[in-house]
Amino acid sequence: MNAPTIELFDTTLRDGTQGEHVTLSVNDKLRIAHRLDAFGIDVIEGGWPGSNPKDYAFFERAQEVAWRQAQICAFGSTRRPGNRPEEDPNLRCLLEANTPTVSIFGKSWTFHAEVALGVSLDENLAMIASSVAFLRAHDKRVIYDAEHFFDGYKADPDYALETLRAAAEAGADTLVLCDTNGGTLPTEVRRLVAEVGAHFEQTIGIHTHNDSGCAVANTLMAVEAGARHVQGTINGIGERTGNVDLCAAIANLQLKMGYACVDPEHLARLTDLSHFVDEVANLDPIDRAAYVGRSAFAHKGGIHVSAVMKDPRAYEHLAPETVGNKRRVLVSDLSGQSNVRYKAAEFGITLNGKDEARQAVQRIKELEHLGYEFQGAEASFELLLRAIQGEETNFFSLERLRVRSEHSDAGEEYSEATIVVRVQGHRELAVAEGVGPVDALSQALHEALCRSYPSLEAVRLADYKVRVLNPKDATAAVVRVLVEHHDGERSWHTVGVSANILEASWQALADGIRYHLFHNAVPLATAPALSVSVPGA
Ligand SMILES: [Zn+2]
Repeated sequence: MNAPTIELFDTTLRDGTQGEHVTLSVNDKLRIAHRLDAFGIDVIEGGWPGSNPKDYAFFERAQEVAWRQAQICAFGSTRRPGNRPEEDPNLRCLLEANTPTVSIFGKSWTFHAEVALGVSLDENLAMIASSVAFLRAHDKRVIYDAEHFFDGYKADPDYALETLRAAAEAGADTLVLCDTNGGTLPTEVRRLVAEVGAHFEQTIGIHTHNDSGCAVANTLMAVEAGARHVQGTINGIGERTGNVDLCAAIANLQLKMGYACVDPEHLARLTDLSHFVDEVANLDPIDRAAYVGRSAFAHKGGIHVSAVMKDPRAYEHLAPETVGNKRRVLVSDLSGQSNVRYKAAEFGITLNGKDEARQAVQRIKELEHLGYEFQGAEASFELLLRAIQGEETNFFSLERLRVRSEHSDAGEEYSEATIVVRVQGHRELAVAEGVGPVDALSQALHEALCRSYPSLEAVRLADYKVRVLNPKDATAAVVRVLVEHHDGERSWHTVGVSANILEASWQALADGIRYHLFHNAVPLATAPALSVSVPGA
């Protein structure tokens, strides 16, 4: 028997953009729509053409695209009270969007019809019926979104059903029950979807919000009760606490409940899709996100790690590769030798002798005690392991450096760094300006090394963070500097710790550059290493 199919309806580009901090340009929307189409989303709701010109522009451009399989859908409301459908500006905009499918929402809740909209209950039914009929007469597939359905049904079940009937009889093929305020709980959703579904031949859809933390659970319950159309957004972005996260919903429905949502091979792109949307929307990814988060398969405790190394099923609910994610072993002061060994293997380093692993754990503990943290600085950790292995990563050495910073009350800032390094048997001196002392130092180091190592041209300082570790004891405050470098394709993180911020910055910057040079197979410095000394700040 074939698995029952679920129609996936993505509203990242419409409901998702209602979320705080989310703005998408027309181009952003098109890029995301392409990914959704390739992934296997059936219906892509592009926006509300009646509400803003940007959404209108999206639909104009979407018409020129040969979508692989997705239907592009425009969203709008039922006609205004008193308007004839053909004269209603909202419905006209929906037609002008020129999409094969439209979704329109209407009121299910007597309170909303009478108070928010200020119309009689009969007029509300007429608005739903005539709007759907008008769109059907223009050959649109109509998906009807019953706004506040669960609240409306609880207040007046007969009337809520009548609103659905009005949409169904006018030709809507899908009746979507919306938990607009997000307050309904899973047991209720399950019971009500089953009850309502029994009245209709049409496909029942579910649209949930996460205000009670139950959006995914509510979606699963609705499907179990018979819904076959699921609306949501990638990563659950959306108004207030967001919509249902389609990533988790799809993975659960397909991998755990046996429904067919997307081509099984496409599921392995789920994590990628999630990251892509965050990146385009300029949002920080949520590490703890189910299935697709960076920490979703991360192991920290030593006991967990040794068990996972024997058999991942010990602490993983499924194989991370199924959804395109990765198992990660975190380096922390909880580390036992198995963490270190596992981590080393990830870098392609085999810690053979028992001694090496023990030595590494010992060294990590010492450094962590000083304030180093390797969880966010895996490149420094890798260099540390390589040093324990006796591998040479000494591509240059510092002779001296000086950084000068000036600023005025007017807010003008000026930083200049002078650096002398030994590289490939000779001395290089470089002077550079930068935005702040760390940037100036990075520029100067770059300048000093580029001639010897041209691949550094592509490497940039992407970010750095300074954290004061023991602010109570101000005279001996130690700072930890985390640095991110980027080479246009990938980024890596390094760390430095010292009571002197310049020295901490230097350690992190130098590690970042060494890491790049190590992985770009360049010859090592031939000069003997000089000791690294950093003058006071
Ligand atoms: Zn919504």
